[in-house]
Amino acid sequence: MSVSEKFWEKPLDLLNSEEWEALCDGCGRCCLKKLINSRNEQVHYTRVVCRYLDQEKCRCQSYERRQILVPDCLVLDLQNLPLLHWIPDTCAYRLRYEGKALPDWHPLVSGNREAMKRGQITVTNKVISEEYVHEKGLEEHIIRWVSAAC
Ligand code: SF4
Repeated sequence: MSVSEKFWEKPLDLLNSEEWEALCDGCGRCCLKKLINSRNEQVHYTRVVCRYLDQEKCRCQSYERRQILVPDCLVLDLQNLPLLHWIPDTCAYRLRYEGKALPDWHPLVSGNREAMKRGQITVTNKVISEEYVHEKGLEEHIIRWVSAAC
């Protein structure tokens, strides 16, 4: 299997598995811990990140085994994507599902990760591993630079 030219402009349901994987911008935002307000269901992102995220590369260090290591780690697909209102509003899957173009900073568009870094899209240098935060203290780490826009 291979990727076709400008595959990211195709509808999501026409992507092959390689193209689907390649659509991810590697921001790491979906690996942040989230809190849900029980009164209004609003999702709040925290700066606390999964212990398995390589914070420099913003890639999972155990991608193939992630669901064994973290049972509630999500495998994003066409079926669950419409239900996931907490997905960051910058997420490539969300954007394409909503029929929007990828932003100029996306590595597939810009050709590298520099614009992403300049635009502070990645979580690098802005997060703390869950290893160092007690679950009850998550609320103290709520951030505003990621939003689910739901
Ligand atoms: S938020 Fe979306 S684009 Fe960013 S790492 Fe997660 S799946 Fe990939």
